Amino acid sequence: MSDSAVRSVIIIGSGPAGLTAAIYAARANLQPLVIEGEEAGGQLMTTNDVENFPGFPDGVTGPELMALIRKQAQRFGAQFVSRNVSAVDLSRRPFKVTVGKEVFQSRAIIVSTGASAKYLGLPNEKRLLGRGVSACATCDGAFFRNQSVAVVGGGDTAMEEATFLTRFASKVWVVHRRDSFRASKIMVDRVLSNPKIEVIWNSELKDVLGEDSVTGIRLYNSVTKETQDLALDGVFLAIGHKPNTEIFKNQLTMNETGYLVTKPKSTYTSVEGVFACGDVQDHVYRQAISAAGTGCMAAIDCERWLESQGHD
Ligand code: NDP
Repeated sequence: MSDSAVRSVIIIGSGPAGLTAAIYAARANLQPLVIEGEEAGGQLMTTNDVENFPGFPDGVTGPELMALIRKQAQRFGAQFVSRNVSAVDLSRRPFKVTVGKEVFQSRAIIVSTGASAKYLGLPNEKRLLGRGVSACATCDGAFFRNQSVAVVGGGDTAMEEATFLTRFASKVWVVHRRDSFRASKIMVDRVLSNPKIEVIWNSELKDVLGEDSVTGIRLYNSVTKETQDLALDGVFLAIGHKPNTEIFKNQLTMNETGYLVTKPKSTYTSVEGVFACGDVQDHVYRQAISAAGTGCMAAIDCERWLESQGHD
């Protein structure tokens, strides 16, 4: 779908932020092109139960919700490219967005590339990724039926993943580096009252054991100063996320952890005509509904800016 035409707006990313921006931009007749990526839909694609998105009193699965929002954007004429962006050139307008060998051009860009799960950076963690190591219980939990797994982390994600994993696994350990969780009370209570879950406090994951697949983990207890090996079949990392901003390095202003900086109460980035919404610029709220809200803001900011430039 490469062409020499200069589009009004290209939206990079297809989570709740990008797709909401697409709905608004499409309804404003801007005919947005959404580069949705090879793993379209963002983090909600790996979330099983979404209980807090308004309008779904009985809950909805993440993939279902994303399919609905995408359908809504499509209904108003948003177009989609299901590949990843390899480079952007924001140095002059029209902006250039490279997807493989194709280059798309646009007057404005909405960045909604989200954030991705973090890993500890252990060599064996990487080597055994997909062979017992995962950062997504909803994606991989079913592989661990009647097996034992560990979840590393003490936030809401760790609690959610541990609880979810008890649907399949016979035993779930939660490994946390401190002696208290930062997760919300309701989710902690669910974990602590689940007979299949056992918490290992004050412990750091030092290594992942196994040749072809995970057979155990090595833990260091920071209180007893002891190292202990635990035999198990899987380990799920739930230690937070990092923003997907690699392709914008040296082009858009970021904070010290790589999140895009937007001007207060707006979605304007440091480059005129480039707007950012969703988790790529929000490390505080990080909710689907707040991402969708900023997606709406980005489309409105973009529409008004294009109009101020004499484009429609
Ligand atoms: P958080 O940043 O909240 O938590 C990360 C956890 O990982 C912390 O407990 C942290 O430990 C631990 N951690 C970080 N780095 C390391 C490391 N190098 N080694 C060991 N442990 C480490 O991330 P989450 O992904 O849990 O949550 C992100 C946001 O999303 C939060 O705002 C959360 O509330 C929200 N969320 C909400 C959900 C819901 O409501 N359904 C579900 C999932 C997430 P420490 O505590 O010591 O810093």
